[in-house]
Amino acid sequence: MRRILSAFILSSLCAAVGAAESSNELAQNVLPEVTKWRRDFHQHPELSNRETRTSKIVADELKKLGYNVRSGIAHTGVTGVLKGGKPGRKLAIRADMDALPVTEQVDLPFASKATGEYLGKSVGVMHACGHDAHTAMLLGIAEAFAKMKNDLPGEVMLVFQPAEEGVPPGETGGAPGMVRDGVFKDFKPDAVFGMHVVSAYNVGVVALRPAGAMASSDTFRMTVHGKQSHGAVPWKGIDPIVTAAEIVTSAQTIVSRQLDINKAPAVVTFGTFNGGSRFNIVPDSADLAGTIRTFDEGMRKQVIASLTNIAEHVAAANGATVDVKMPQSDEERNPVNYNDPALTARVRASLEKALGKEHVIEAERWTASEDFPHLAIGAKAPSVYFFVGTTPAGQDAAAAPANHSPKFFVDEGALPVGMSAMLQASLDFLAGT
Ligand SMILES: [Zn+2]
Ligand SMILES: [Zn+2]
Repeated sequence: MRRILSAFILSSLCAAVGAAESSNELAQNVLPEVTKWRRDFHQHPELSNRETRTSKIVADELKKLGYNVRSGIAHTGVTGVLKGGKPGRKLAIRADMDALPVTEQVDLPFASKATGEYLGKSVGVMHACGHDAHTAMLLGIAEAFAKMKNDLPGEVMLVFQPAEEGVPPGETGGAPGMVRDGVFKDFKPDAVFGMHVVSAYNVGVVALRPAGAMASSDTFRMTVHGKQSHGAVPWKGIDPIVTAAEIVTSAQTIVSRQLDINKAPAVVTFGTFNGGSRFNIVPDSADLAGTIRTFDEGMRKQVIASLTNIAEHVAAANGATVDVKMPQSDEERNPVNYNDPALTARVRASLEKALGKEHVIEAERWTASEDFPHLAIGAKAPSVYFFVGTTPAGQDAAAAPANHSPKFFVDEGALPVGMSAMLQASLDFLAGT
């Protein structure tokens, strides 16, 4: 009896140890392959909506791992669904796959020498936002789930998304494209998780914040119509360049004088100012384009109304006219990246369990934007999105080249950290703990 009892205790102990393989161990087990994938993707980056090679590798690997795979969503998007052997919830996890028109300046044996076509020009292509790491980590997570399939609670959908950095002009896609293509038609997740590597934090650190974590973004465009004349006789024409310059200057009062910034920050940036063909001609028109970043829907509406009002009245005061184009639908803009507060608190507890309390920090509110919120909105599910530090330990993360820089660098120590964090958060969520 005693022997039987101790054998029983031993076997149940072993089962417990087996089931309790930590998220760190799960991540370490797949790390060699994840590192290989990450370097391969890094060396072969592809621009938005052109991620054909990456997406084929992803689909092939997911099939090998036993996932139910769907390809060609919003051009090159791929999903893999795996049903675990235990009851539990449904979770979607997203990684983005696209690279940027940036020529790499990092000295790596697997540095990118790739080129591509962007806006009609040949450009260098680089994973300057770390989406190579996202894709590789999610493949590693796929492998970890597949290995523990019988013990996996619930069901997961891994979403490999194209064109997060924005679709080429005249094309559609990205997260809203995947939603429109029915990514959640047959799989209704109870939550959507995402993560992003950033050089603003050191390796080992993950950061998140409840509620509005990243701003909404609206791209605006304006064409100021004047009247062409010789530059020597401007009174015979209407100068769209001076008018456009006044619009840019007057628009600076929106954030500084009109918005109640006690509520939330906001940004209005003009990124392009184009007009004219020759030094001695007053041109017929000038084009402006820029971005609006807000965290509050009321403030967003106020900025749009005020910017339109300023543009129209400044133009009228100069005898010119202006066409103002704002996003016409939610698909054309990025909503606020909103972390569901209750779910964020639970994910934070999971991250602390995986990495230690001292490695999980509250992220600062960030005026960058993401198309990830479209997935959560499309799924009608709460979402959580956290940041994973990539700057080598001992280096000043605040001074590190930012994401999108040709010198952006991912210390590969971030790979197991990101995977362990996401695995722990996912497994806890799926099990409902
Ligand atoms: Zn980016
Ligand atoms: Zn990115």
